[in-house]
Amino acid sequence: MATATKKPKIEEEKSGLEPLECFLRWCDSVKLTLSDKVYLSKSGTVAEYGMLAKENIEEGHELFSIPRGALLHQGTTKVKKVLDEGKKYLESASGWVPLLLSLLYEYTSSQSHWKPYLSLWPDFSKLDQPMFWSDKECDDLLRGTGIPEAVKTDLEKLQEEYTNVVLPFMKSHPELWDPEKHNLELYKNLVAFIMAYSFQEPVHEEDDDEDEKEPNSPMMVPMADMLNHVSKHNANLEYTPECLKMVSIHPIKKGEEVFNTYGQMANWQLLHMYGFTEPFPNNINETADIPMNSAHSEPDRRLFEEKWKMLCQMEVVGENSAFIFSQSGCLTYNELYTTLKVLCMSPQEFKEFSDNEGWEEDDEDDDKMEQELSFDGMVALSRDWKYLLHTAAFLTLASYHENIEADRKLLEDQEAVELNSRQRRSLHVRYGQKNILQRIFNITK
Ligand code: SAM
Repeated sequence: MATATKKPKIEEEKSGLEPLECFLRWCDSVKLTLSDKVYLSKSGTVAEYGMLAKENIEEGHELFSIPRGALLHQGTTKVKKVLDEGKKYLESASGWVPLLLSLLYEYTSSQSHWKPYLSLWPDFSKLDQPMFWSDKECDDLLRGTGIPEAVKTDLEKLQEEYTNVVLPFMKSHPELWDPEKHNLELYKNLVAFIMAYSFQEPVHEEDDDEDEKEPNSPMMVPMADMLNHVSKHNANLEYTPECLKMVSIHPIKKGEEVFNTYGQMANWQLLHMYGFTEPFPNNINETADIPMNSAHSEPDRRLFEEKWKMLCQMEVVGENSAFIFSQSGCLTYNELYTTLKVLCMSPQEFKEFSDNEGWEEDDEDDDKMEQELSFDGMVALSRDWKYLLHTAAFLTLASYHENIEADRKLLEDQEAVELNSRQRRSLHVRYGQKNILQRIFNITK
């Protein structure tokens, strides 16, 4: 079990010793307990700070425990009262504004309770999500991946929120915020920091009544956010009423890095939100999207449009949504199954279907749909279903700049062609997606 540290656990580090030492002292002062079996370091980790095992660790070991009072969020910040009073002015689509205002204040206050924690990142120069790339780089490297569109939305949203919500609020509290200091540039960095470092507590089951619960607001979790992620992680964060605990879920050998999970993230999500990727083929959560509007094969345009309208009315498809495929088949099998079924109906079948306003009863069971749309099951689909999938995979593959062969070659020659970090990470995203799309294309030939 974790025990309270008597003296800060510091490995002899050449760089980063001071901020880390201050942080560990602060951890002691807020009763954040760290197991003797682990230590924080900047060397031997996959990226900057990370946690390493000092000795062999068994499964179920508590690596550290953070009392809820040490968390940084709108309910613990020094500006809590002002945020509570101004709640109705701080509503926004992202739901991040209160935490962003808290961070604008705490990050720039020399008196902040979280100073030793936030000083671990004296600037945000290490953050390199595509929101910091030029439009040209995004398009050149990431076209087809879904990231450029997501970045565009993020940037529009953050500027809109800063101008219309944050700025007026800061101006009405000049004793706490100064728009000169708390400017859009800092705000953007903090948005990126929240994207890559914050945690969102899952909505607890017991709170789960009929109505869908609002997701919890994001919060900063000192120590937990020093851990890096891999899809085959070896530790997990547990939430209890008093504290948050990081617990090993597998044995971890001496010298190995302790990896948390940031969720089941495909590489496009990892790059978009966190600025990194897992090299192919390490990411077991890799996915590829086929935009729903690329599924059409109907020579009769009018009939296709009627069928599509029907699918939209049934809320099976939407203009900007996608069918999602993992490395073993379709994850959105319900939607894809119904789409293929409707799109492949003869005019007579579709007429009966429309007259009935859809199926009279739900005659398809989930397991059957999942199996038939898995990569193992897909081979046995009817010819017209396969043709539709084949065309959709082809169109999606064609939406990238370069073909899969060019990317495969780049991946093999990585050393020789000396890709920079952005090129390398983009390649991981593109190749992982294309690899799945190519499989669909081949199976449905
Ligand atoms: N290493 C971070 C640091 O020193 O501040 C602590 C983890 S922080 C929650 C998340 C960031 O760590 C990401 O935005 C990314 O830069 C980095 N990261 C996490 N897992 C990674 C991995 N497997 N490979 C490369 N970078 C990773």
